[in-house]
Amino acid sequence: MKKVFVAGHSGLVGSATVAALAGLKEYDLITRAHSDLDLSDRTATRDFFMTYRPDHVVMCAAKVGGILANSNFPVEFLHNNLAIQLSVFDAAHASGVDRMIFLGSSCIYPRDCAQPISEDYLLTGPLEETNRPYALAKIAGVEACWSFNRQHQRRYLALMPTNLYGPGDNYHPDHSHVLPALIRRFHEAKVKGAPSVTVWGSGRPRREFMFSSDVGDAIAFLLGLPDGDFDALTSPDKAPLLNVGVGHDITIRELAERVKETVGYAGELVLDPSKPDGTPRKLMDVTRFHKLGWRAKTPLDIGLRASYQDFLSKYATASR
Ligand code: GDP
Repeated sequence: MKKVFVAGHSGLVGSATVAALAGLKEYDLITRAHSDLDLSDRTATRDFFMTYRPDHVVMCAAKVGGILANSNFPVEFLHNNLAIQLSVFDAAHASGVDRMIFLGSSCIYPRDCAQPISEDYLLTGPLEETNRPYALAKIAGVEACWSFNRQHQRRYLALMPTNLYGPGDNYHPDHSHVLPALIRRFHEAKVKGAPSVTVWGSGRPRREFMFSSDVGDAIAFLLGLPDGDFDALTSPDKAPLLNVGVGHDITIRELAERVKETVGYAGELVLDPSKPDGTPRKLMDVTRFHKLGWRAKTPLDIGLRASYQDFLSKYATASR
């Protein structure tokens, strides 16, 4: 039985990872609440790893947020992420972790790169300004994986998911990502009988959305790969980078229409061009992952319905 430490187990990716691995008899899961272990504390993190000696680590712990949170708190997005990464990589190596899956996001790629975005486009152009501090911290994480693989023959893989959504999402009105923000806004408008709902930006940017249980499934698939296949993904001669997504995208306007339909809101949709659009498009090239024999399964309408149910079950908290 392999011991797997899921760092950041209560977040969107972490909880999906725990759900995907919990039913598998080959894994013994280890998790820690933030209040019990501060991963930015290098000594505490090292002590924890030396005591529990996980075989694998799924590194989902991160400071994350939507376009506005990233613009308002650049210091936190850079520093907190770098601090957590430094301690986790240091402790994982010191305690002999053989496989790590380090989670990042599609924003590590240049703002204006060709679409769909292949793993080879890393560091080929300037980043999107609105989330550059977060992106640079995550790029440092990719480099850390590669450095440990080169210098210490580790097998650390950087997995870059597209925009994720799902149960346990952050529904904060200003600081969340677009999909949970719109679920909340359309729901509140429906409840209040408001005549219209505002959608930020031009509505023209295109985004790809993957349901969180699919990324949990992808992580379980990767951890279950035979040594030879995992070694090929993390061989020292190339960046150990792998995209995961659904392979197609929609405009923000289309997304807003789909959320409106899921929530059952009858009013108008109004665009607010004073809010930033961010990157015009970021569709992941998932050819490399598909070649391994895995594909995302959940269609957007099914995922949206599940997310709306999740929002309704937590609405009392979300609206506080
Ligand atoms: P991004 O994918 O890193 O740009 O992050 P977001 O999920 O925050 O934003 C995606 C796109 O959705 C951007 O073009 C936003 O302007 C647009 N958007 C529309 N309405 C909203 C909203 O209510 N909240 C957020 N976060 N984005 C919105």
